[in-house]
Amino acid sequence: MTKSKHVYDNVLQLIGSTPLIKLNKVTEGFDGNFFAKVEAFNPGHSSKDRIALHIIEEAERQGILNPGDTIIETTSGNTGFSIAMVSIIKGYECILAVSSKSSPDKIDMLKSMGAKVYVCPAHVKADDPRSYYEVAKRLHSEIKGSVYINQYFNVLNTEAHYKTTGPEIWEQTEGKITHLVACSGTGGTISGIAKYLKEQNPNVKILGVDAYGSVLKKYHETREFDSNEIYPYRIEGLGKNLIPTATDFDAIDKFVKVGDEESAHSAREISCKEGLFVGYTSGAALQAIKQLNEEGEFKPTDNIVVVFPDHGSRYMSKVYNDKWMEDQGFFDTQTEMQATIEYV
Ligand code: PMP
Repeated sequence: MTKSKHVYDNVLQLIGSTPLIKLNKVTEGFDGNFFAKVEAFNPGHSSKDRIALHIIEEAERQGILNPGDTIIETTSGNTGFSIAMVSIIKGYECILAVSSKSSPDKIDMLKSMGAKVYVCPAHVKADDPRSYYEVAKRLHSEIKGSVYINQYFNVLNTEAHYKTTGPEIWEQTEGKITHLVACSGTGGTISGIAKYLKEQNPNVKILGVDAYGSVLKKYHETREFDSNEIYPYRIEGLGKNLIPTATDFDAIDKFVKVGDEESAHSAREISCKEGLFVGYTSGAALQAIKQLNEEGEFKPTDNIVVVFPDHGSRYMSKVYNDKWMEDQGFFDTQTEMQATIEYV
């Protein structure tokens, strides 16, 4: 069979080249034109497909990874799913150490993709032997022929976005982007895109989204690690209790902190108003835009690109579950549920 444009050798060929979609309703009345880089269109439904493929192929090029080897990673779920997907196609074993904060759906999905999963307590210090960093490190030292992806401290994470997401956004906006708004976890997404965009136009403003309970914003402002900033929060994949070297803090102009409740409502708003079923951090990114708009950050002629990192299906037991929302004290179930569900 001759290969037509839409026939692929395997699923990995579909990674990247995600669409940029104009936001029409959720930013109505705001200054500026808003566009979402919707990373759920990757085959693994998140931006992490890009880094999994890039890091694994780089290890192959360097001869570090050989057929049958084991790939180990710490992950809030998305990176794990992407690594598991790449491992299946390329024939590697995949071991994932995840935070107990990860949604049960995410953990089940990782198992479904053939990964071995270790669930580690979320609210312990990074150097605790039970933390997912320490568990991954231990397994890496114990298993011969294993590779530890280590996304928080791997420059290839940032490089993946420098090589793919950044150029895509520049091309899709025909160089007219004025602001980038992106969540920061490992910082790979925002730093990689920022580096590429600033090389094209140093005036593009890079706005990072951080969570209340995380150290990133304070570190950006003071270059000091302040453990007083750390406390538990609900949003997965955003913010951190350590300083990742994958983050280029100099490339980021400003951080905005967002809360669990507003971000959850913002995610639901994107789904309802734009027809884009996105994850919790996409809601966090929209929440940041709302706050920045209030602060007068944007002009009517500005072109703002916001990264929506993953798909809403990963949060069916959380943000998109009315009971969960109610349990968090995020809304009054009676009124909101009755508005959308009628039991016959
Ligand atoms: N959103 C989600 C859902 C994520 O899993 C992550 C990754 N931790 C991010 C945003 C942040 O991306 P990055 O790690 O590239 O900063």
